[in-house]
Amino acid sequence: MLTNEYLKRVYAEVEKRDGHEPEFLQAVREVFESLELVVDQHPEWEKAGLIERFVEPERVIEFRVPWVDDNGDVHVNRGYRVQYNSAIGPYKGGLRFHPSVNLSVIKFLGFEQVLKNSLTTLPMGGGKGGSDFDPKGKSDMEVMRFCQSFMTELYRHIGQFTDTPAGDIGVGGREVAYMYGQYKKIVDRFEGGVITGKGLTFGGSLARTQATGYGLCYYAAEALKHLKNDSFEGKVVVVSGSGNVAQYAAEKTTQLGGKVVAMSDSQGYVYDPNGIDLKKLFDIKQKRRARISVYADEVPGATYTEGCRNIWNVKCDIALPCASQNEMDADGAKALVEHGCIGVFEGANMPLTPEAIAVVQGAGLLYSPGKASNAGGVATSGLEMTQNSMRLSWSFEEVDEKLQGIMKNIFKACYDASVQCGRPGDLMVGANIAGFLKVAEAMMAQGIV
Ligand code: NDP
Repeated sequence: MLTNEYLKRVYAEVEKRDGHEPEFLQAVREVFESLELVVDQHPEWEKAGLIERFVEPERVIEFRVPWVDDNGDVHVNRGYRVQYNSAIGPYKGGLRFHPSVNLSVIKFLGFEQVLKNSLTTLPMGGGKGGSDFDPKGKSDMEVMRFCQSFMTELYRHIGQFTDTPAGDIGVGGREVAYMYGQYKKIVDRFEGGVITGKGLTFGGSLARTQATGYGLCYYAAEALKHLKNDSFEGKVVVVSGSGNVAQYAAEKTTQLGGKVVAMSDSQGYVYDPNGIDLKKLFDIKQKRRARISVYADEVPGATYTEGCRNIWNVKCDIALPCASQNEMDADGAKALVEHGCIGVFEGANMPLTPEAIAVVQGAGLLYSPGKASNAGGVATSGLEMTQNSMRLSWSFEEVDEKLQGIMKNIFKACYDASVQCGRPGDLMVGANIAGFLKVAEAMMAQGIV
């Protein structure tokens, strides 16, 4: 419940204008509820229309993406780029290719990205983009033609000093490479820093592929250590999803001594009491691009259950939701609490519904929002851009060490902010406030723009 009059007024305006964008409203509301704890101390913000400006994207770009399939049939998808906030650096944020993409989804992701990028301490503003194109079931050539068409419009809006996209759901190394190839052809420059998540032979960074999942575990390990005097050692862990973030969260969990017993995709989940065989998982997902159900077909003792939402019924000590927004509702959260789970750390963006967050926090579990715990991906994208500018490549160990340092600092920033606003250990308000204060200071300094 919002009580501050200024925030109430701005939220009512957002609701009036964007009431048809549920994911966007959900993200704004969560952040506003945290900002209530600081907004009273800053009457100058209202005078400067700061919150009204903060909540409105600087620019929204929507475009046609026509492409031709292998049979010669023409398809038209819709492309988006939301350039949300450039107060602290060039817009930065991934591209998502998934049938569920619409303006509400891209705006919520862009809004979250502003705070996430601020938390990394790197000079990156926030943006997000994508398309309702579904790469699943498409041939390589179809994906290539789509990516080329998408970039043929997007190229005019991006650049290493303006806006630098990266991957997200449905956009991995293959798609980033096709888009970069088309960008380079159009502008006739090898401008590596224009997009991150590139292949290692053309400016990509070692450890970028692993960074979001690894970073999530580094953050969770910090929280477990400082707030529960505990660790991953001997813990049973459930990881939802089986894409980029989930795969490397599972790998790092295993390296830190935890046992991942369940993983999912959008159709269902697998349970393996012996611990997920990562070599098998990587083969199924990275090489064969097959469904997670294949895991249960090929691994003795593993079972497959239709329907991904029920994965939270699997008993675990730690839950790492790494699939998509609103994938865990109140029932899922209640199941975790009943089974004695001690912490929920978001790898995906906004995977818990507001009701699920209330259940988890109400029961005293550790909880971290994605904007803090999944920031390792974009932070390492920032490191990729640094290497591109310096024209050199760091080793895997160097990047991984920097990533660990960044995730420790993000945890500390969130925790310190939670203490300062009188809610020690509430990493959600800590993340929202710490991320916002830096952006607010820059916006106030730069005048009404
Ligand atoms: P991928 O495309 O690699 O994997 C996504 C996974 O989530 C797949 O297993 C997919 O299953 C599943 N999934 C997608 N939509 C749904 C849904 N509606 N319900 C249940 N499962 C679903 O994406 P990423 O791993 O890159 O991204 C996962 C999450 O992490 C997203 O929220 C993304 O925004 C966030 N994130 C990603 C970063 C990155 O560096 N990649 C950085 C920070 C955040 P299926 O194959 O069946 O579709």
